[in-house]
Amino acid sequence: MHMVVGVALAVLFFYFSRWTRLDTVSWLLSTILPYFVFLIIVVFQSEIRRALAYFGQTAVPAGISRMNRTESTEEIMLAVERLAANKTGALIVIERNIGLRTYVESGVTLDAVLSFDLLVTIFNHDMPLHDGAVIVQNNRIAAAACFLPLTVKPRLSKDLGTRHRAAIGITEETDALAIVVSEETGSVAFTHDGQIERGLDLNDLRLKMREAVGAKRPAQSIPAAVESTHERPSTS
Ligand code: ATP
Ligand code: MG
Repeated sequence: MHMVVGVALAVLFFYFSRWTRLDTVSWLLSTILPYFVFLIIVVFQSEIRRALAYFGQTAVPAGISRMNRTESTEEIMLAVERLAANKTGALIVIERNIGLRTYVESGVTLDAVLSFDLLVTIFNHDMPLHDGAVIVQNNRIAAAACFLPLTVKPRLSKDLGTRHRAAIGITEETDALAIVVSEETGSVAFTHDGQIERGLDLNDLRLKMREAVGAKRPAQSIPAAVESTHERPSTS
């Protein structure tokens, strides 16, 4: 609103200067005002990007982006469980239709096979890559230590720090999903479309993830899958 008022005032001032025959001011404003188009593009770039992506999304067949991601979802779930139990802070972003290349480039490129072990290792406190977000693209860990945009929502709970704000921020700017493990409480949060759902247990998170990535495997098969892979950490 402040910016709209600012632009409106500049336009009003332009007409005022013409009316009162302030030639220099009028000339100056008529030279500058056309550049306001670029200013508006720069200021509203994220809104414009989101709107274009939204239109583009309807043109992309859903099947292309919704591949079967059940396997990598399970690896993520197991890692989240371990990270939460150890109160290790983590932020995992999962790309959907809108590309996250800009954010991948802000971190350290890995392009690695997604696995429980790798995720837990990355977020380990003693590791240089633990700070920032991991970005998952097409079942692979594209990068770690990525910097995400923070949400500017004013009405957020005070106990949500920058990790949670970054998770909300990326889901506002893109259609990605994000999972946050809190270092302070060990609690798990899931963000999508700028919304955050906190205090989730693993089953809630698994269902939400499945729903979001469009995996079709029936829910009954989940416990077996968890137990079979669960042994792995203790053997490593
Ligand atoms: P926690 O509950 O884990 O404490 P929090 O929401 O309170 O989370 P902070 O305590 O501020 O958040 O967490 C700081 C950590 O969040 C940083 O060390 C960094 O790893 C991560 N982080 C902060 N800002 C960003 C960002 N813009 N992009 C990605 N990661 C970020
Ligand atoms: Mg904190």
